[in-house]
Amino acid sequence: MTVDVLAIGAHPDDVDLGVGGTLLQLAAQGYKTGILDLTQGELSSRGTVDERRIEAQNAADLLNVSIRENAELPDGGVDNTPEQRLKVIPFIRKLKPKILLIHRASDRHPDHRAAAELCRDANFFAGVSSIKTDSDPHRADQVYNYNPYSDDETPPQLVMDISPHFEQKMQALVAYHSQLHNPHYEGPKTLISSPEFWDGISKRSAYWGNRIKADYGEPLYCEGPIGITSFTELGKR
Ligand SMILES: [Zn+2]
Repeated sequence: MTVDVLAIGAHPDDVDLGVGGTLLQLAAQGYKTGILDLTQGELSSRGTVDERRIEAQNAADLLNVSIRENAELPDGGVDNTPEQRLKVIPFIRKLKPKILLIHRASDRHPDHRAAAELCRDANFFAGVSSIKTDSDPHRADQVYNYNPYSDDETPPQLVMDISPHFEQKMQALVAYHSQLHNPHYEGPKTLISSPEFWDGISKRSAYWGNRIKADYGEPLYCEGPIGITSFTELGKR
């Protein structure tokens, strides 16, 4: 099993929040997509590891991804070390994505910041043949960054128009019964389980969509320069 696009998140639900619509948009265009969660979210104040595994798989089904894997790194201890890179490299080599969607290095959550560096460097070393694993070397050509909460003040370089898939993305997020706003779930209050956060998902998506004259969008960041042969797609602003 290989994929065209691999989205990597520190915790189950990060990918879904940040690029769930992008994955749906790409799947609709025929791309084979996959998700790698780095941790099982065992540090969360809401939901058990087993609950979160089921929620993540249900969400993956709704996002039309072909595969969702977990690297089982320590929640709260994601770090860009040789040991942790060696846990991520085998997934990149096995799944052979051409495109990686990873966290941004500026993010309030320490695991998200560390995941950005870890995944960028794991992708680099996945292409280095002297590092031996079960699979052949492979490096994704394109790497884009996302912020799970889309609340970054930095203007993104790209906004993916996810208008046709917004409702489906929200359905996938509903699968996270224990994590996101759910009046029927008893548990400690957290930032992302508040009704305000739930409400903000659609408001921020509408804001980014509005910036590109679409109904809903997801901001993406990348390091330039980007080579082009036409202005066709770039003209949409
Ligand atoms: Zn997270």
